[in-house]
Amino acid sequence: MKDCVFCKIANGMLPSTKVYEDDDVIAILDINPATRGHTLVMPKTHYDNFLSTPREILTKVMIVAQRLGQIAMKQLHARGVNILTNCYPVAGQSVLHFHVHVIPRYDTTDGLQISMKDMSEEKINLPTIAKEITKGM
Ligand code: AMP
Ligand code: ZN
Repeated sequence: MKDCVFCKIANGMLPSTKVYEDDDVIAILDINPATRGHTLVMPKTHYDNFLSTPREILTKVMIVAQRLGQIAMKQLHARGVNILTNCYPVAGQSVLHFHVHVIPRYDTTDGLQISMKDMSEEKINLPTIAKEITKGM
């Protein structure tokens, strides 16, 4: 897609630090890493996010993400890995081309912090919320 940074990286119009490439998938080091070895895995074809990516492409991307997570543990001596993908700006997506973050973790105070607020009223509503979700399945 025109003007998409990751499309430009995938087709070689912009430079990147590539760690993996095949016909459908590319993995690059994040230019602004949260931790050492923070990698982005993405399809070469443009899809806006995880939710709009076809299953067969999703599978290919996730298989590479898993491999990179395993390699982070072995080669970079990470003690854990976060695999995450943001969908839409409200969820923190800043580049609107589907990508999966593979973030090696070294300790709980390294560069990534994920926190969840305690939303007590949502706890009370669990059965209602479950009904709304299952209606859509
Ligand atoms: P998100 O906020 O989930 O959309 O993640 C986008 C990620 O892409 C951020 O972590 C950025 O640091 C990273 N990023 C943006 N531009 C580039 C680039 N040209 N090369 C590598 N990583 C990039
Ligand atoms: Zn794109």
